[in-house]
Amino acid sequence: HRILLTGANGFIALHIIRQLLSSPSNHSIRAVVRSLSKVSTIQSLFPHIPTSKLDFAIVPDITVPGAFDSALESPTPFDIVLHTASPFLMRAAKTADDFIKPAVQGTTEILNAINRCAPSVKRVVLTSSFAAVGAWGLYDDRNKVYTEADWNPVTSEIATGADDLMFQYFASKKFAEQAAWKIAEAQGAKWDLVALCPPMVYGPMLGAVERVEDLNESNEHIWKRFFAESTPESEMSDNMISLFVDVRDIAKAHVLAMDAAEAGNKRFLVNNGWATSQRIADIFRAEVPGAAERTPKGTPGADTLDKDWFKTDVSRAERLLGMTYTPVKDTFVDLGMQLMEIEKKQ
Ligand code: NDP
Repeated sequence: HRILLTGANGFIALHIIRQLLSSPSNHSIRAVVRSLSKVSTIQSLFPHIPTSKLDFAIVPDITVPGAFDSALESPTPFDIVLHTASPFLMRAAKTADDFIKPAVQGTTEILNAINRCAPSVKRVVLTSSFAAVGAWGLYDDRNKVYTEADWNPVTSEIATGADDLMFQYFASKKFAEQAAWKIAEAQGAKWDLVALCPPMVYGPMLGAVERVEDLNESNEHIWKRFFAESTPESEMSDNMISLFVDVRDIAKAHVLAMDAAEAGNKRFLVNNGWATSQRIADIFRAEVPGAAERTPKGTPGADTLDKDWFKTDVSRAERLLGMTYTPVKDTFVDLGMQLMEIEKKQ
């Protein structure tokens, strides 16, 4: 395939690049980033890769009309677009405009640019989120089984009225995915859309992270909850559910979605179920050197929730994409080891 990948320096996207480059298929990727320094980041991770396999485009502002037009010009025409770029980093954001606008306009810009400039594109894979699906913080659907038919009920009024920027993130993912479906339906059959809806994505980072302050959003949550000195033991008492997927698995879902014949015009819940805080803490304390002194202990082995929690049906991704998942222990051991190494570097 000839693949355009947006947000290419991101946590998930770097794993997508790694998997695409190590595939026996002769893929060629154009990595789209916001600045030249991010080109260097990617090049340093994948040295000695010829430009015929990995080249770059810089799009400084994905909300500008025509932003992607020149990125989509290529002597070898693109047949796949993977759109991962979207803001998630809470510390980088200040207002709703920092989430909803780039998420929605970035998505509409890339899809309109495909329609205008890249008639060879056959499939677009959009990194949506379970944030677009679950009723996070709005309803307490304890016994519900979420499927691809569900949408987060968040509205722009709720998002802009809430103190917690997370609601603006939820809204940004919902509105961006809905905007994508609208364009996909309007353009007929030139390309089809696959929307992937992962929950929190955890696991090892490929980019060189020098300081824990520079962690990506989801892994930062793990750092703060289980390793930072301020983590209180009381955090363990609620045995919080964490619906999650390993970063290597969601990257794999993108790769599988490029070719899965029956995936077109479908959304997919992709997750490895839930891990309780207790289970994650037990893994860290047993497997990650140094964790036993700082990760809250809780009640080891009490890997149960005190009440029912919602469930998700991921059978569509297993059936149509062929999804399988990394063992839970590997996700948290690999991440925990890396977090401790990053701290040592500081
Ligand atoms: P990262 O923050 O590591 O990567 C995000 C990517 O999007 C970066 O390339 C970033 O560029 C780019 N980006 C962010 N804001 C903008 C903007 N305003 N304009 C243009 N580009 C922007 O996050 P992830 O890899 O975790 O996220 C990738 C995708 O996965 C996102 O769509 C996110 O919503 C989705 N997702 C992530 C989950 C998770 O737990 N990590 C869970 C569910 C979905 P730059 O480095 O220049 O800022």
